[in-house]
Amino acid sequence: MSAVQSCPICHQPSGATSTHASTMPLEDMSVRVCESCTCVFFGATVPRLEDCYRARVWGGPPRAEFAEREDGSIGRATPAARSARTAAKLHALRGALRRGSALSASVLDVGCRDGVFASAARERFRGLELAALEPWLPWRDEAVARGLNVTAAIAESVEGGSVDIVTEFDLLDHFADPVAHLQALARLMKPSGHLVLGVSSIERCAGMLHPHRLRRDAPVGLTRRSLRAACTAAGLDAQIWEDGPTLFAVCERGEVTPEAPAAGEAAALALAFEENDGRLHLKRVLAQHGPTDAALRVAGVAARGCRTPRCYAALCWDVAAACERGGRVELAAQWSAHADEGRLSQNVA
Ligand SMILES: [Zn+2]
Repeated sequence: MSAVQSCPICHQPSGATSTHASTMPLEDMSVRVCESCTCVFFGATVPRLEDCYRARVWGGPPRAEFAEREDGSIGRATPAARSARTAAKLHALRGALRRGSALSASVLDVGCRDGVFASAARERFRGLELAALEPWLPWRDEAVARGLNVTAAIAESVEGGSVDIVTEFDLLDHFADPVAHLQALARLMKPSGHLVLGVSSIERCAGMLHPHRLRRDAPVGLTRRSLRAACTAAGLDAQIWEDGPTLFAVCERGEVTPEAPAAGEAAALALAFEENDGRLHLKRVLAQHGPTDAALRVAGVAARGCRTPRCYAALCWDVAAACERGGRVELAAQWSAHADEGRLSQNVA
């Protein structure tokens, strides 16, 4: 077991004194953003492969299945939002089916959990030769109860080379070495095969770095750029898109020229995390104490301190909503106007 000291994707060094990474302290751990590929990573230890799969069990739902509540807390997304995510996964699979040439494609869903996606895929696309892997036995049993063909195994341990389409959702960010895991997935495919990936986008998820407890279980936070870098390093040519808080990719084997390093993107992402944490803190204070004069003075200072338009607008909307709930309707209107205008006039708070 050793602590991760450099970017887990592109291996840019990022020691405490390195200039290669933006570092910001959070609780007892540092959150690092790779200057080159914008991968977000935590000083976590490298677990055994089986434990990366196991982390889905004790780590709770994927980051993309959380939502921000009115009081600033981060909770489980609604069943409707989760259904929409399953639909987005099916859409991604459809993309791979269109690209492939097999009449009756063989599909292997890696880490299928309780089989919700695989059984939805079986219903939507008739004629698929569908199998799944799930090492966590209670989930495996649930998936089998849905009538699925599930083997209790990890991708790294099964024989490969025979599958048209490999699908994997909400697993990649549990690996301290995502590139090695992608290589293991690529090995399962036929030479002409496709890989369909879905993983939480750390910059689009509710609370971004919240809930903090997820960090230990999901040691890597992926952005569009870092997902591409990981696929490229694994010898995969990826078409990537975002659907709400989820990054999707359809990949095939191919040599791709790595993207140039992200100038300023890492620092902007670190700033977005920091400002979002501050905004959530203020939102919780307003929920607890109501829109008192003192709380609104703090809000005014916080708003003037915002350095990104995105955080500024979100903060103003939070304050407007708190004012409305607290019956201060005129102030609510003023704060809504600030959100629209994108700046704070001097006569408020
Ligand atoms: Zn990197």
